[in-house]
Amino acid sequence: MAVCEQEKVLDISLYTPLLPDVRKQVLVEDIAGLVLEAGKLSLEERINPRKFKIKNGHVIDPKSGKEVTEELKWESTLDIVEGMGMINFYNYLVDHEDSVVICASPSEGISPYIEGRVNIGVRKRDDIEFYGIPTKLNPEELLDFVLRVSEFSDAKIPNKPDFLRLNPIPIFIPNNENIWKFLENIAPLDSNAWQAIFEGKPWEMKARSEKDAELTVKSAAYLFTEAKTPRDFVLIGAYVERNMQRLGWELDKAGCPGVFNSELLGSDNSGFTKDVFGNTRETTWEYHTGSCLVCGTSNIPVGPCKICKICEKKL
Ligand SMILES: [Zn+2]
Repeated sequence: MAVCEQEKVLDISLYTPLLPDVRKQVLVEDIAGLVLEAGKLSLEERINPRKFKIKNGHVIDPKSGKEVTEELKWESTLDIVEGMGMINFYNYLVDHEDSVVICASPSEGISPYIEGRVNIGVRKRDDIEFYGIPTKLNPEELLDFVLRVSEFSDAKIPNKPDFLRLNPIPIFIPNNENIWKFLENIAPLDSNAWQAIFEGKPWEMKARSEKDAELTVKSAAYLFTEAKTPRDFVLIGAYVERNMQRLGWELDKAGCPGVFNSELLGSDNSGFTKDVFGNTRETTWEYHTGSCLVCGTSNIPVGPCKICKICEKKL
């Protein structure tokens, strides 16, 4: 348990502004992505778009300067299956110019996810455009979706939804066809995602949320330099969340209070978790007996971010 707390504190330190500017950029990116993905918005408004660069055969996140595969962990079955799928996904893009790849991540099965995601990568020269599209399709429906897409692929399609995580599907877009119009025709989703991407809407939303996340991080800079204890960071998380809400980003609260708190605390089982592609995924969670990080009371029911029910209401 003590070790676990310590790891959390170390995770928090990644975000302190004492570290170089790049950390602030990563925090802004995380908050901006989170208010979209966990926002009270339509499915197509919750798409979190990202850009990556191919350099010497490696895929680099320009915000952090890190290779996308750098933080892979190999602890659980899900880690391994998702990790292999992600490596296959980016390897295909690196090896093929002007390629398009889809990797579906169903809800349930070996995962704790409540919703599915359709991840799509599009390579243009040395740039990769990435979209994580939220979907309410159940695992079997998601498999059907991939089957429709696979008519324009040479990939072998698995017979169980869980194996979709491991098998990226390259799609061959006919010459002169627009990718998004083509996908809308052959593989409709349970939202207007393809049309929204065609119109560039996810990038407009992201630019807005990034602007507000930047303002919020700036206004919290003083709190960061003063913060020392896990409680301080919970309070910063609550501040960040309130501030983003004041700026108009309403959150769909399925996690413990302050989804940002749980992000800052780096908890693995927080109501929201990051999948291998960096998508924020809602997960199932329960209260358990423990000590509250905020008020210090012990032996009471606390959520996955270790906050009691009374403090939850105050945050
Ligand atoms: Zn409490």
